[in-house]
Amino acid sequence: MRTPTEQAFAALYDERPEALQRLPPEFVMPAYGGRSIASIPATMASVLEADLPGMPPLAPDISESWQGARKVVFVLLDGVGYLRFRRFLEENPDSSWHRILERGSMTPITSVFPSTTTNALTTIWTGRPPAFHGVLGYHLYLKQFGVVINTITFSPWFEYGKRNVMEEYGLVPEGFVQTHPIGVVLGAQGVTVDVLTYHGFIGSCLSRMHTRGAHRIRGYIALSDFAVALRQMTEELPHDRRSLLMAYWAPVDTLSHAYGPSSEVWDAEMRLMGRALEEEFLSKLSGKVRQDTLLVIVADHGHVDILEKQTIRVQEHPALYGALSMPTAWESRATTLYVKPGREAEVREYLHHVSGGAIEVISRENALESGLLGGPLPPEYEDRIGNLVALSRRGWAIEWARPRHPLIGRHGGLDEQEMIVPLISVRL
Ligand SMILES: [Zn+2]
Repeated sequence: MRTPTEQAFAALYDERPEALQRLPPEFVMPAYGGRSIASIPATMASVLEADLPGMPPLAPDISESWQGARKVVFVLLDGVGYLRFRRFLEENPDSSWHRILERGSMTPITSVFPSTTTNALTTIWTGRPPAFHGVLGYHLYLKQFGVVINTITFSPWFEYGKRNVMEEYGLVPEGFVQTHPIGVVLGAQGVTVDVLTYHGFIGSCLSRMHTRGAHRIRGYIALSDFAVALRQMTEELPHDRRSLLMAYWAPVDTLSHAYGPSSEVWDAEMRLMGRALEEEFLSKLSGKVRQDTLLVIVADHGHVDILEKQTIRVQEHPALYGALSMPTAWESRATTLYVKPGREAEVREYLHHVSGGAIEVISRENALESGLLGGPLPPEYEDRIGNLVALSRRGWAIEWARPRHPLIGRHGGLDEQEMIVPLISVRL
């Protein structure tokens, strides 16, 4: 007999639209029907007796334990894949995470597509899928500015190390997404939204775009003050109003990029995070504060290990470079290609050949009609996707240029390690 968790896990592999049937078996589609991170904001809103339109709520078997909460503490752990976390739990039987999970439950759900932080976080902050909010990748072509930007730094892709350069050219981050973020929508319905994030992110274009309408934004420096601030802010949530605390933790993602998700550093980081949550947050919360409070912990995506010899740098492949009219965009593992007229077949053939069949190429139409982005793309975003989308199998990546620091761990694609994330719910 399979447990409910095993059933929920197996079901994620069944969601495959007709147009994508031929894709490899380890590819997992975003489950926008109620088993993806895109359904979390609407569910949190409804638990707090507010309305956040746009996506169906989480399936009832997931959100059952959420009902009746008046305060929600939401923690996003960037880059923690479900399969990697499951392995961590097996290999670390003494970890605090086991005691945290005993107090609640864990369900596997999917990320959005492409499975990357800017897409997923914008979905979390707006309750809308990528097709609706228009943030489709780490690299995004903005026709009105004539440039592919980095959507974390809001700077042209080649401006390494610079931040918020697009603002100088007239981009207004608060208006970049054509919908109100959760702080504005819930704030108007009497729900207080507070934010805890890395101090260096406060004031960035991406952060301003997401946290508009927030009641209070607090920054942390390291794990210790993250955990202490999480407890203090939870204790300070108003007793007379429904409230939501949104906390964000980036280092698992940063470390996975640098060391790869298989590294022992991953385990070390997660052991420390589990201890911090258990010792500085959960065990020190006062009984009064625990009442009616729900803790939700989720990740935006996982990671896969990338091999240097399986990284295709477009500018080092003249045949490929010559067939493209623009730099590639989105992700190294889910790459959109702007191909010169009549040369699509040549590009497909080249990528198939050079990767030994490990890079699957689908058409723009296939990507859109299969619902990968969570809906049709409105006309104002139609140039944010090229005419092909290349989906890399495990170990493979496509880059436009050689980066200063090659990344060992990557994400963005449809591999199960990137797409499936843990959703942990604990009634405090
Ligand atoms: Zn990342």
